[in-house]
Amino acid sequence: MDKKKAISIVITVFFVAGMAAWYIFYGGKAGKMEISQESGETEEKAAEPQVVFEQAPADEDVRRDEIIEKSPEEIIEQFKQEQKKPTETVIKPEEIIKEPAQAKKETSLDIEDRLVSFGFQKVSGERKIDTVILHSSFNSLGGDQYDVDKIIDIYKSYGVSAHYIIGRNGTAYRLVKDNDVSYHAGVSSVPDGRTNINAFSIGIEIVGNYDDGYTSEQYEAVSALIAKIKGDYDIKYVLGHDDIAPGRKTDPWNFDWDELK
Ligand SMILES: [Zn+2]
Repeated sequence: MDKKKAISIVITVFFVAGMAAWYIFYGGKAGKMEISQESGETEEKAAEPQVVFEQAPADEDVRRDEIIEKSPEEIIEQFKQEQKKPTETVIKPEEIIKEPAQAKKETSLDIEDRLVSFGFQKVSGERKIDTVILHSSFNSLGGDQYDVDKIIDIYKSYGVSAHYIIGRNGTAYRLVKDNDVSYHAGVSSVPDGRTNINAFSIGIEIVGNYDDGYTSEQYEAVSALIAKIKGDYDIKYVLGHDDIAPGRKTDPWNFDWDELK
């Protein structure tokens, strides 16, 4: 009994001592190795561009081996090359964005005839058209400011017109045929010095007051209408009434020319 007990104690002591020695020797060494490797990595990352690792996490291990084998100059060169690559790919998303914008250009134009019997002169031959003038107007006589019929009534009382009037909903009402002369410009002149602008221009009224600006539907309609007119005639100028009659006219009020596509 005593002998067996003594043997088992000896075995236990040896086992425990062996375990402790193994841990102290290998465990400690392994720990040191990890630490030195980590600090080595940290120095390496700090010394070299971190982007190299961040850009290709999948190849991280392969890249690390490559970098260790390469001279600092080679690493810098590789970094420069990789910096060039993203710049090339950045251009692609912009090209993708451009496509929907171009598709938007071709928004269908809703033209509705509302031909008037006043404020224009019939032209029998082919009229030469090279200018588009943008105006704005609203109903100032009470009721709905944006009522197109009431605005047309006001034109009638003044004996004026426009070829088109764009309602708040983006519908383009045709009041006068393109080939006829509409009385919309009054005393004015285009940048090349020509006067009597009604004779060679198309007038577009956009329904809007002094403050509200215009709806996105109106901007789309005006853009589409101008695109159509440019397709039909050789257009030299697209101007505001305020451009051709400065000091006398201030419309189109608050028109954002950048919204024209
Ligand atoms: Zn005007």
